Amino acid sequence: MSEPSTNAAPHIGVVGGGMAGLTAALRFAQAGCTVTLWERSEKLGGQAVAFPVAGTFLEHFYHHLFQSDHDIIALCEELGIGDELLWLPSNVGYFADGRIWPLNGALDLLRLGFIPFHDRVRVGMVTAYLQRVRNWRRFETVTADAWLRRALGQRAYDRTLGAQLRAKFGSAYDRVAMVWFWGKIWLRTTSRRSPLDEEKLGYPRGSFNVIIDALAEAARAAGADLRSGEGPAQLRPLPDGGWAAEFPSGDIRCDAVVATVPSPVFKRLVPDLPETYAANLGGLEYEAAVVALLQLNQPLSDTYWLNVADPDLPFTGIIEHTNFMPPADYGGKRFVYLSKYLETDHPYFAMSDGELIDAYVPALQKVNPAFQRDWIERSWVFRERAAQPIIPLHYRERMPDHRTGLPNLYLANTTQIYPEDRGTNYSVRLGNRIARLVLDDLGR
Ligand SMILES: Cc1cc2nc3c(=O)[nH]c(=O)nc-3n(C[C@H](O)[C@H](O)[C@H](O)COP(=O)(O)OP(=O)(O)OC[C@H]3O[C@@H](n4cnc5c(N)ncnc54)[C@H](O)[C@@H]3O)c2cc1C
Repeated sequence: MSEPSTNAAPHIGVVGGGMAGLTAALRFAQAGCTVTLWERSEKLGGQAVAFPVAGTFLEHFYHHLFQSDHDIIALCEELGIGDELLWLPSNVGYFADGRIWPLNGALDLLRLGFIPFHDRVRVGMVTAYLQRVRNWRRFETVTADAWLRRALGQRAYDRTLGAQLRAKFGSAYDRVAMVWFWGKIWLRTTSRRSPLDEEKLGYPRGSFNVIIDALAEAARAAGADLRSGEGPAQLRPLPDGGWAAEFPSGDIRCDAVVATVPSPVFKRLVPDLPETYAANLGGLEYEAAVVALLQLNQPLSDTYWLNVADPDLPFTGIIEHTNFMPPADYGGKRFVYLSKYLETDHPYFAMSDGELIDAYVPALQKVNPAFQRDWIERSWVFRERAAQPIIPLHYRERMPDHRTGLPNLYLANTTQIYPEDRGTNYSVRLGNRIARLVLDDLGR
C-alpha cells in the first residue's frame, strides 16, 4: 500500500466516473490534490455515455439539456466547448386513442381531443398554477398522486399527468412527493424566457461524449489519474483517518474518498457505515430503466418526444432522436428510443434483448400503421438499475448528508439532488459542491 501523504497534497480517491465523479476529479486536481478516479465500466461517462454508431456517437439513454441547466452550460464554456452546444426547438406530443396529439403550447393543449374540453382547460390551469409556485416546501408533505388527482379530477388525471407519473415510477407512482412533480414543471418554466416562448433543448454536437471527453481531458491535464475498467472491491478505514481502496493487486491509500456510485453499491463498498446513515441510504429506492434503441431506415413519426398515455403499449416514452437532431448527422438513419421505467423484478428487465424487441415491435404499428419490421436495421437494449430516485414525502429530513459520519468518507450521488430532478446538470453541480466541501474539510 502507498504511504500516508506527508507532503501538502492530499490523495483523494473518487469512485465512479460519471458527470459527478469527473467534475469532482477536475476540481480536486485544479486545487492541487493528487487524484485517482476509478470507473468500473470501460468508458467514462456513467448514465450519459454514448457509443459509436452511424459514423458518430449516440447515448445509451436519450439525453438533452434545458436552457436552465446553468451548471453544465458554465462547465462547457470553461472547457472551451460552449459552441458545441446546439439549441434546437423541442417537439413534444402525446400518444393516446391510437394517434399522436402535438403538445407544444397552450393551443395544442386545448386541442387534446382524447379528454373532454373542460378537462383540457383544467390541465392548463393546474399547469399554469404550478409554474407560478415558488414555495415548493408545501409540496413535501403530499404525494403527487393525491395532489394532482384532486386538482385535475380522476378522468383528466388518469389520462394526462397521472399517466406520466405512472410512466416514470411504475407501481411506486403513489409514493412520489408532489415536490418532484413541481420540480419537473418548474424546470420547463425556467428554461423559457416567457411561457409564450418556443421551448429549445440543448444537445452537444457529436453526443454527450463531447462533454465527457473534454471533462476527462481537462482533469487529466490538471494531473488527475482517471482509470476506467476498474473499481475497488471495498473501502476500508485506516487507523490514521485515511482510507484503503482494496484491489486484487493490493490496497491504494487515500486521505479522503468521494463515492459517486448509487447508494446500494456504496453500502456494499463500505459494509460498516454508521447505522443511522446506512438506514437513510436504504430509505430511498430507485426506479430502473430499460431502453431499446432502434436504427430505422425511415422515420417512425415527426415528433421528438412522445409521452405514451395508452396503457396497452408496452413502453411509456418514444423519443425519436432524429426528430431533434438532423438525420444527416447520422448518415440519414433514424434513431428511436423506446423507454420504460420499471422495477428490477419486472420481466422486461431480465428479458433477452431479442425477446424485448419482439415484445415491442407490434406496438410500433399502433403508433404508425405503415411501420414494418424490416424498417429496423439494428437494435440495442440498455438497462440501468439506479435510473431514477423515488423521492418520498418529507425527503429533506431524510436525505443522506455528503459527510457519511466516518472521517474523510463522502457520498455524492443522485439521491442527494433535491428538490430538482436528477440530470447531468445537477451531477455537475454535485461534483462542484462535493469538491468544495471536501477541500474545506481538509483546510485547503
Ligand atoms: C433513461 C435516462 C434518461 C436520461 N435523460 C437525461 C436527459 O435528457 N438529460 C439529463 O441531463 N440527464 C438525463 N438522465 C440523467 C443523467 O444521465 C444522470 O443523472 C447523470 O448522468 C448521473 O451522473 P452521476 O455521475 O451522478 O451518476 P452515474 O452516471 O450513475 O455515475 C456513477 C458511475 O459509477 C460507476 N460505478 C458503479 N459502481 C462502481 C464501482 N464499484 N467502482 C467504480 N465505479 C463504479 C458507474 O459505472 C457509473 O459510471 C437520464 C438518465 C436515464 C437513465
